[in-house]
Amino acid sequence: MGIKININGKYYDKKDAKISVFDHGLLYGDGVFEGIRSYSRLVFKLKEHVDRLYESAKSIMLEIPMSKQQMAKAVISTLKANKLKDAYIRLVVTRGEGDLGLDPRKCKGNATVIIIADKIALYPEQHPEQLCKKGLEIITVPTIRNLPEALNPQIKSLNYLNNILAKIEAVNCGFQEAIMLDSLGYVAECTGDNIFIVKRGELYTPPQCMGTLRGITRDTILDIARKKRLGAHEHVLTRHEVYISDEVFLTGTAAEVIPVVKVDGRKIGDGKPGKTTLMLMKEYKKLTKKEGVRY
Ligand SMILES: *Cc1c(COP(=O)(O)O)cnc(C)c1O
Repeated sequence: MGIKININGKYYDKKDAKISVFDHGLLYGDGVFEGIRSYSRLVFKLKEHVDRLYESAKSIMLEIPMSKQQMAKAVISTLKANKLKDAYIRLVVTRGEGDLGLDPRKCKGNATVIIIADKIALYPEQHPEQLCKKGLEIITVPTIRNLPEALNPQIKSLNYLNNILAKIEAVNCGFQEAIMLDSLGYVAECTGDNIFIVKRGELYTPPQCMGTLRGITRDTILDIARKKRLGAHEHVLTRHEVYISDEVFLTGTAAEVIPVVKVDGRKIGDGKPGKTTLMLMKEYKKLTKKEGVRY
């Protein structure tokens, strides 16, 4: 049996889960989204994800036609309907059906709310365990992250072309993941993940003020590090600092914590996942097993 997709509160089979070609989410990428994970019937950081969804929506003046509590309940219902123990949940809210013009008022406040719950799949080219053992090789790409004055990276919007262009550049060069810089040339983040370096046992990650989305996994790692009494800093990073770091890793809801062993041809540390990274991977896993909203 296939998965059941929730569109505006109704369930559809995958092949019937469709929206209008006039939906501004399709025509203009006018909408917001979240990616959430559940582990053994525990939804990890559900409140944080729902809060961020509503913040993204507020920023683009998109009214979500339900309360945060109703949204959280709808996520749980969709997980139950799909009988999934471990899942990746994609929450999408679009401006809804309008006409061919840009004007969001033509969508008459009929936002489309889509909840897809499915099994997790990431970097399908590589087995996840393999990836965590060997680590990723990544490169810096020419496309810079959106400027906050243009389209603020804090908005997790459906307009994802900025990141897709970077992904294309990485793939064209034979890499799965890329570092994107901000408009000043500092390291911002990867195409859908945040970046950390470890230097002399302390963690550094770019601050959220420029081209960096404040990831929920990023914040969780900062919390874990502080509890472990490691220094953890939000600090601007140049590529040079990445190259000479002892360890590099990426964080994101789907990816969790992924070690990086080579950046722009420079081997990081001894070219193997570092011990701080491995410790954080383990601690993060532990947290996902005990924290979350049960269903
Ligand atoms: C979602 C996302 C992340 C990771 O955020 P999490 O909350 O940890 O999943 C990082 N960068 C971009 C561009 C994203 O869209």
